[in-house]
Amino acid sequence: MAKLHLIATGGTIACMPSKNGLVPGLGAKDLLGYIPNGEDMGCTDLFSMDSSNIQPEEWQQMAKAVLAAREHCDGIVITHGTDTMAYTASMLSFMLQNIDIPVVLTGSQYPIVRPDSDGRINLKNAVTAARSLPGGVYIAFGDAVMMGCRAVKTRTTSLNAFESINYPYVGAVANDRFISLTEPRAMGEFSCFVDIDPGVALIKLIPGTSPLFLESVAGCGLHGVVVEAFGLGGVHNFRRDHAESLKKLIQKGIPVILASQCLYEASTPDIYEVSHSLREAGVISAGDMTTEAAVTKLMWVLGHTRDMEEIRRMMNRDYCGEIAIHD
Ligand code: ASP
Repeated sequence: MAKLHLIATGGTIACMPSKNGLVPGLGAKDLLGYIPNGEDMGCTDLFSMDSSNIQPEEWQQMAKAVLAAREHCDGIVITHGTDTMAYTASMLSFMLQNIDIPVVLTGSQYPIVRPDSDGRINLKNAVTAARSLPGGVYIAFGDAVMMGCRAVKTRTTSLNAFESINYPYVGAVANDRFISLTEPRAMGEFSCFVDIDPGVALIKLIPGTSPLFLESVAGCGLHGVVVEAFGLGGVHNFRRDHAESLKKLIQKGIPVILASQCLYEASTPDIYEVSHSLREAGVISAGDMTTEAAVTKLMWVLGHTRDMEEIRRMMNRDYCGEIAIHD
């Protein structure tokens, strides 16, 4: 039987009521008490945090905790708040590339202490998935199992809170059995890299966004920006010229990643006249990456290099299944 380890970080699954609202209070052992044979698993209490407070520093600690647990187990489950779980899963996918054991993140919409909570089934399903999955970073939520770098939280309260975007579901859990739905990815050599650069911004354009606002990124000590543009990758190029502003950022050495406000399918600046000059200006297309993957990948890439051509090459390369359609 595979030896599994639970790393608890907080989130709703671990929450207790307080006079100021729900606050994480249960530890890893408490959580394991809610699933059959939970006492057979090893565990680590890493944080007890609402995931709205999870930041790059916590990602580094999580990656290190996974490395430590990997020494003595065959699979890891991480309990985590749902609000930023997709960012964490994406970042761990980059930090722990080609990890040879499964790392499965899960959480819940309702505290596990509530009798009708989805926490018990989610934790049980995550454990079931971790017994069968190949190496990699995943999210298991409800009965769905997806690649961590393709997951997005798409619902605030429904039990099927996460979707796999532009990528098939890796599997499903039914009646305590894992059903594989995709062929395992070809794996390379395991490598761990945690020295990321958190100096990244995400800007979602709205009709009327000031070019000065875009340009202000350069004065904030930021080293890269992901821009969620309209549809396929459209920006203003009249009255308020976003293309001109993005060009100025690139000239200052700040990489600009062009993503879409649409959740599904790839974006490109190459189709419409409004965004045509962006390519020439040097923007890098996010292709079919999720925004969560684009942002965390940029932090990870900037941790390696500040050279624009190297950044472009790395952003376009597929490291863990995060991108299939690119420049
Ligand atoms: N605010 C909670 C968190 O992300 C929400 C949840 O876990 O569902 O920690």
